[in-house]
Amino acid sequence: MEKYDYLIVGAGLYGACFAHQAFLKGKRCLVVDKRSHMGGNLYCEEVGGINVHKYGAHIFHTSDKDVWEYVNSLVEFNRYTNSPLANYRGELYNLPFNMNTFYQLWGARTPAEASVIIERQRTEMEGREPGNLEEQAISLVGRDIYEKLIKGYTEKQWGRPCTELPAFIIRRLPVRFTFDNNYFNDKYQGIPIGGYNRLISKMLVGADVRLDTDYFLCKEELDALADKVVFTGMIDEYFGYCYGKLEYRTLRFEEERLDIPNFQGNAVINYTEREIPYTRIIEHKHFEFGNQEHTVVTREYPSEWQTGAEPYYPVNDTRNERLFGMYRELAERQTNVIFGGRLAQYKYFDMHHVIHQVLTIKDQI
Ligand code: FAD
Repeated sequence: MEKYDYLIVGAGLYGACFAHQAFLKGKRCLVVDKRSHMGGNLYCEEVGGINVHKYGAHIFHTSDKDVWEYVNSLVEFNRYTNSPLANYRGELYNLPFNMNTFYQLWGARTPAEASVIIERQRTEMEGREPGNLEEQAISLVGRDIYEKLIKGYTEKQWGRPCTELPAFIIRRLPVRFTFDNNYFNDKYQGIPIGGYNRLISKMLVGADVRLDTDYFLCKEELDALADKVVFTGMIDEYFGYCYGKLEYRTLRFEEERLDIPNFQGNAVINYTEREIPYTRIIEHKHFEFGNQEHTVVTREYPSEWQTGAEPYYPVNDTRNERLFGMYRELAERQTNVIFGGRLAQYKYFDMHHVIHQVLTIKDQI
């Protein structure tokens, strides 16, 4: 039987990047994934020439030169810059909160005018310690921005009123006193030309890949095939949920193909009022400046997570952090298993974080 150096559970970004680094060192890897495709949450499906981000919009951004050079050595990136809009009851506002937003909200034309308004509104919370997310947001940016651009969106995301959410969820709300709609502050940003699947395929070029393979259904047999295991699935599942289940927020995506060339004129529009059940509409072609005759849009609905649903966002509250700490202790005792990626570390990571982590340990491969 063929023996591999590494069995990698999960063909997502962590698993693929690890496989690539191992390949560069002459190591042999077997990558398994329970899904029927590679790429994990970066996976795109091509619909009439448009790359549809099947697990939510993914925009690559980083200030880490090594990470940027690494991904660019595999695929070329386009110049896409994320400049989302917010739609509140039919009114459009630029995001992140910047001079364009303040002009749209109050007609403020200068940074001085805008900051006077924000400072005045923040005094509502003066002298009081914020006791919940609503109070925290008002203390940071005042009531207008909170009511129109934060409240409904956050309540949909978490499925609870902001008055029942802890203040710590929002530590900072960056406010920009320039006319700059670029959502990210990072130095580098873009989308792989031809989509994310190309990036992942390049990373997995030297590995054997088995799809539709759930590790836990044939663990012993798979473990026997390799010297070491890289596990990027759910850490609580790895340990048979022995301390209980970690919780997540999940998303439901409703995709629609439309026979018009342009639906909303932007890749991402957030819907910030509570009454509209989705949080945003993604129009995929705009990530790659597509000029097809048709378009594809996806509405994103946040919802409660139950076992079997896709685990998108970890709920890093006290209970779950305590539970994760217990699982992490068990993981640290496993000498032959590397736990990597967002599910095994129970933490939201951007793509550049994941790549940075792998590049950091590459010398140990
Ligand atoms: P995953 O991509 O989840 O890969 C894990 C893989 O393991 C999956 O393919 C899964 O099927 C497989 N697996 C799990 N259990 C088993 C098992 N038992 N057997 C076999 N296989 C298994 N990052 C950005 O930088 N920019 C963005 O704009 C951005 N947008 C995002 C939007 C959303 C809605 C979400 C949820 C995340 C976003 N991210 C973004 C983060 C990005 O998705 C992650 O950084 C990245 O997917 C992490 O890769 P991973 O390999 O850790 O996890």
